[in-house]
Amino acid sequence: MAMLKFKATQLFDGERLLDDKVLITQSDGTIESIVEASDAGESVRELRGILMPGLINCHCHLELSHLKDVIAPHTGLIEFLCSVVTKRNFPAELIQERITAAEQEMYRNGIVAVGDIGNTADTASVKASSRICWQNFVEVLSFTDDKAAENMAHYQSQLNILSKALEGSPLPHRSSLVPHAPYSISPATFRMLNEVTQEQVISIHSQEHPAENELYQQGGGDYLKLFSIFGMNASPFPITGQGSLRSVLPYFDRGQTILLVHNTCTTQEEMDWAKHYAKEKGIQLQYCLCINANLYIENKVPPAALLYRSGSPVVLGTDSYSSNWQLSIASEIKSLHQHFPTIPLETILHWSTLQGARALRWDDRFGSFQKGKKPGLALLDIEAGTSSLVSLQ
Ligand SMILES: [Zn+2]
Repeated sequence: MAMLKFKATQLFDGERLLDDKVLITQSDGTIESIVEASDAGESVRELRGILMPGLINCHCHLELSHLKDVIAPHTGLIEFLCSVVTKRNFPAELIQERITAAEQEMYRNGIVAVGDIGNTADTASVKASSRICWQNFVEVLSFTDDKAAENMAHYQSQLNILSKALEGSPLPHRSSLVPHAPYSISPATFRMLNEVTQEQVISIHSQEHPAENELYQQGGGDYLKLFSIFGMNASPFPITGQGSLRSVLPYFDRGQTILLVHNTCTTQEEMDWAKHYAKEKGIQLQYCLCINANLYIENKVPPAALLYRSGSPVVLGTDSYSSNWQLSIASEIKSLHQHFPTIPLETILHWSTLQGARALRWDDRFGSFQKGKKPGLALLDIEAGTSSLVSLQ
């Protein structure tokens, strides 16, 4: 079989940045080896930038792609959420058009796998013929216990549509039911979600705003504004006296991998507690950062240096077009690199590839240039914050 040879300005293998190396793959992109440039022989394709395994986007909402430029930057999270839940009634063709364009944008950027949140099955037909691998997170919203069973049944029906659409896909894919956030899931709903997600990869928006803690500590705060849109004039959640992560993580103990998304106001103490809890209960935690979304909504950055120093597993996501200027992991890498110069670039690249693949439990195929994997090839321009899929043709 004819081999392909690639030499870029630098090579990133999933863990380390390497100089003067050549990547050799089979013609279908299966990794063969990494050799010294001096030993690579002829027909080496020269590329400018960092050649790395396909990028992993652990947090996206493809179905919200039509909300690009609809909500202005820096509105603050609570106002933002109120806008997202009230801005409905977009034409179905427009929604499909934007989903199609966003999927193509991610594919061209060298994103090979996506953890994608959806409250609907609007993305089903695009995903059915996509060349990206999809971990569908069908996101449950269920504020009160009395509606828990009804809500779970509704979201299960959306999950069934997505699973069916992807049935014929030759690529790996999965769908799971997931909680939206600590401020939108009732205790009975959390318990049902724990039961139906045994050993699955799930996700939850966590610690995105300080008011989340206030809600569980005192039953008050800015989230009451969001609840009033749904006709509730008090918090439907129990007052635990604890922060939000400590209040909701104990609902889970069935071997799940849980992607905690955003973590903008997490602390070392909470991470220590969560690490201990996860170990005791046999669950895996992954901290997902979406720095450009935090900059867009609140003009804040997540505590990436704290996460790095504590050795927590970190992965990256773009979040949706309602809160980002583009769906580009390269742009997320650039922003993290700019705002956190003390974190080695190698580490950020690792978060965007191998760690992301581990979080989605697809590291048997993606995330590194290990022999036998078929991870896709992405070329990163770190200065521009852009990337592209490297063609095998
Ligand atoms: Zn999100």
